[in-house]
Amino acid sequence: MQQWNAFYELIHSDSKRFVILTHQNPDADAIGSSLGWKLYLQKKGHIATVIIPNECPSNLRWMPDFAEVVTFDQNAQTVALSKKLLEEAEVICCLDFNALHRIKGLGGLAQNSQAVKVLIDHHIEPETFADFVFSDTTRAATAQYILEIIQQLGDAPLLDKPIAECLYAGIMTDTGSFRHGSTTPEVHLAVAELMKTGLNVNYVHRSIFDNNSLGRTRLLGYVLSEKLTYLPEYRTVYMTISMDELKRFNSEIGDTDGIVNFGLSLENVVMSVLLIERRDEIKLSFRSVQDFSVRDLANKYFSGGGHKNASGGRTGTTLAETVNLLLSVLPEYQTQLLNVEK
Ligand code: 5GP
Ligand code: MN
Repeated sequence: MQQWNAFYELIHSDSKRFVILTHQNPDADAIGSSLGWKLYLQKKGHIATVIIPNECPSNLRWMPDFAEVVTFDQNAQTVALSKKLLEEAEVICCLDFNALHRIKGLGGLAQNSQAVKVLIDHHIEPETFADFVFSDTTRAATAQYILEIIQQLGDAPLLDKPIAECLYAGIMTDTGSFRHGSTTPEVHLAVAELMKTGLNVNYVHRSIFDNNSLGRTRLLGYVLSEKLTYLPEYRTVYMTISMDELKRFNSEIGDTDGIVNFGLSLENVVMSVLLIERRDEIKLSFRSVQDFSVRDLANKYFSGGGHKNASGGRTGTTLAETVNLLLSVLPEYQTQLLNVEK
């Protein structure tokens, strides 16, 4: 309560300089919650800038005010500008991530800043670096949390169509278009509230999902037909994509997003894993259904974590060695995997 009162005062104070940070490889919830919050803060008379650690997928760049977003690692100017903005910031808001190391170079800059720090997130086990912590895993998306905070601040009347487009994008994608277990009555009520602004949900959906390059569409087809291995004894699917293959399909950032979910569309499959060869690491994406938690597996063997049904991880070895590691740990989870009701 004390925290809430002080937070209320902060938002209702005279104009302040805000910087909003979100996670590496930003997704629609990262960008949507950040831009929705920024547009709201501007309506409250504040100055707000969103800084993202690295480039964002092209299907998210339609969002209102995206043109003003600073991409930290784009070039020397954007690095300098980010440093300056963080030095001058009076408030730093960290959205949709729980630990400063997840934003690489920006994390250190934020840590050293004297600004008041606010964390708004829905991942488990937040780091304790912020003065104001809004962290709740029952929220399906950070964007849903942002909406609730705006409402609690008494500012529902300030919601408009641009804010609604940003927040809806985050809620829609983090719930898998309202099909994940995280889709609560509160999620649908939040969407109803957003739709009252005149939000066109079909426009947001098409902008994000029906906006693929030919390369991305062909990459998806190739991975599903050539690179997918089904292991019925573990009710698991895994797919691999090498750097050469990414090049062959002119892959851009974000082109591999969502591919991992197709593994779960197979009947009987409980876990789907996508392994991607990046310049400096092998990146793994884990997805599961029902009670099978991929978080533990990602954390124990792949230096990662995330949510029960959606986690990420990485290794510093080769693609082949990472596949072998995955295959070697599956027996440990076999009983659990076989017992899941799908
Ligand atoms: P993705 O497969 O989309 O990269 O990640 C799925 C989920 O796991 C996302 O919510 C993401 O935030 C989380 N995640 C990915 N990598 C890590 C990691 O290294 N640590 C933690 N704690 N979460 C991660
Ligand atoms: Mn999120």
